[in-house]
Amino acid sequence: MRCPVCERAELVEKVQNYPYRECGLDNVILAGITVRACPECGSLVPQIPKMEALHDCIAHALVKKEERLTPAEIVFLRKSLGWSGTDFAENLQCDKSQVSKWENGRVPMSKQNELLFREIIVGGKKITDYRRTDAARKEGNKVVSLFVKIDEAKRRWTDEWRDAA
Ligand SMILES: [Zn+2]
Repeated sequence: MRCPVCERAELVEKVQNYPYRECGLDNVILAGITVRACPECGSLVPQIPKMEALHDCIAHALVKKEERLTPAEIVFLRKSLGWSGTDFAENLQCDKSQVSKWENGRVPMSKQNELLFREIIVGGKKITDYRRTDAARKEGNKVVSLFVKIDEAKRRWTDEWRDAA
């Protein structure tokens, strides 16, 4: 396959960790996936199996966080429900402008709204190991990376938080 960006070289396949910024979060690493790399311009084309399961796996990790959700994580979780900003506002019975303030970080979500939002995701995604007494109890955000790994048979993704180096 020729590089879709520079069209000057054939892509070379390798297995590596891939920062999955396309999901809107800058700390999600796909561990050991196949990536097609361009030797000329350095473009990377990741080969991501089971995309829907991957997004569910990331949502699972976020919803169980002990720290508060960041604005980018709120956006990710809203989209994981297939919600627009309007849907979000209707479900939490708030104003749509409120939703955009949470999502651009101008106003933090109240803890009660955040817990309600998490419960909605837990219910929608049938997450069984959520502990509401642990969720959102810590203020502030440690800098950590979320490593998401697929098993050998490429059947399921698993999530693991790691302190950033
Ligand atoms: Zn290229």
